[in-house]
Formats: sequence, C-alpha cells, structure tokens
Amino acid sequence: MQVDRVVWKLREAGGPVHRGPERPPVDQLVGTILSQHTSDINSDEAFRRLKVRFPTWEGALAGDPADLADAIRVGGLANIKTDRIRRVLSAVLDRRGALEIDFLRDLPLDEAKAWLRELPGVGPKTAAVVLVFALGMPAMPVDTHVYRVSKRLGLVPQKTSVEKAHDILESMVEPEHVFEFHVMLIRHGRETCKAQRPLCTACILREDCPSAPAFERAAARRSRGGASAARRRPA
Ligand code: SF4
Repeated sequence: MQVDRVVWKLREAGGPVHRGPERPPVDQLVGTILSQHTSDINSDEAFRRLKVRFPTWEGALAGDPADLADAIRVGGLANIKTDRIRRVLSAVLDRRGALEIDFLRDLPLDEAKAWLRELPGVGPKTAAVVLVFALGMPAMPVDTHVYRVSKRLGLVPQKTSVEKAHDILESMVEPEHVFEFHVMLIRHGRETCKAQRPLCTACILREDCPSAPAFERAAARRSRGGASAARRRPA
C-alpha cells in the first residue's frame, strides 16, 4: 500500500492532526522516560508531580534520588526510571554544561538523532519523540502501534526490526507528514487495527490492506466455531 494513500485515507476518516503545545526538549526527554511501560494518564501524573517536587532539572539532579522516586511512583518502575532520568540529565549536563538541548534544532536531523542516541538509555524511539514533538523535526518514532500497523499494511517487511522500521518509515513519509503519520497510525492501531482481532471489516484501509483477507478468514472461522458450540450446547 502506498504511504501517501494511508495518510490521505486516515486523514479523511479521522480529520487532521493538530499539534499540542511543545514541551521544552528536556521536559520531553524526561517525560518520554516516564512514559515507558505505563499509561499516558499515569506518566502525565508522574511528570506533573515531578515538576511540583523539583521545579528545575538542576534541582532534580542535585536532589535526593529517593525524593525523585517518590515523586514519580505513580508512573511505576520508580527506581529504574529515577536512575534513567538522573543518568540522562547528568550526561546532558556533562556534554552541554547546562540542562538544555534546544541547540539540536539547528543540527541536521541525522546529527541531532546521533547526539541523543549517545545519551544513556536513549534508543531510536525516544530520540525521535523528542525531535518530532519538542523540536518540530521530521523524525519518525515507531512505537508498538506504528510498528504493528505498518507491517500489516505492508509498508515495512514482516521481519524488519523495530529499529530498522524507524529508518524505512521515515524515508517513505514526506517530512511535513511525519508527525501526522505517527499520530494517525497510533490512533488507528488503538481503535481499529488492534493487536488481537483487528476490526478489518470496519477499517478504512481494508481494500488496500494485504493482511485483511487472512484476518477476515480467521474471524469467520471463530464465528463458525462459536455457532457450532452454541448448537451443541444443551437447551
Ligand atoms: S484492514 Fe485490518 S489489518 Fe489492515 S489496517 Fe485495517 S484493521 Fe489493520
């Protein structure tokens, strides 16, 4: 399926994607660490509590790690995330002499990515999230939804690693559509192209999707199985 057609159809179905206010890039970096393995609601609350407890990143780095962990506990994995946040902040401070990374905006995209990827624990998804959400750069974050839906649509080969999928998708999508594509695929993955039992018959992309026939056959088999079981059940 052509990626332009995916963008066009999802935009037709869900309307245009609007950008919210940009967070400062270091806030986005810390927020992305907090978002790992938890819901948006819990990670947002962890971030809010963290900022109340430590209004500056300098304070968070200089403060007691136990206080930081307490502040973010609502987001889960508090001790692990505390360690990650402190190591990332410390590395930024070492490399920049200040807790700011706004300078990345002026670098070519590949250099900005490489700089972020050298921070401890920062992988391709976290780097891309910071670049696209906080700095307005056309980096493609590939989360579990984007990865799954892209493979089902045949945009990336089935055996592509998630790391490689970042490069493939980023090269396919026009820079001005990268943010929109990312957000729309997440929405589509959550609402329609679910991990278990995608809703192919209700999907706007169905007629172009190479995976739809197999999912629909599986759904039909389940439905026939359910009907047979109901017939065998004593009245
Ligand atoms: S047709 Fe089915 S598998 Fe293909 S994108 Fe839609 S929901 Fe996903």
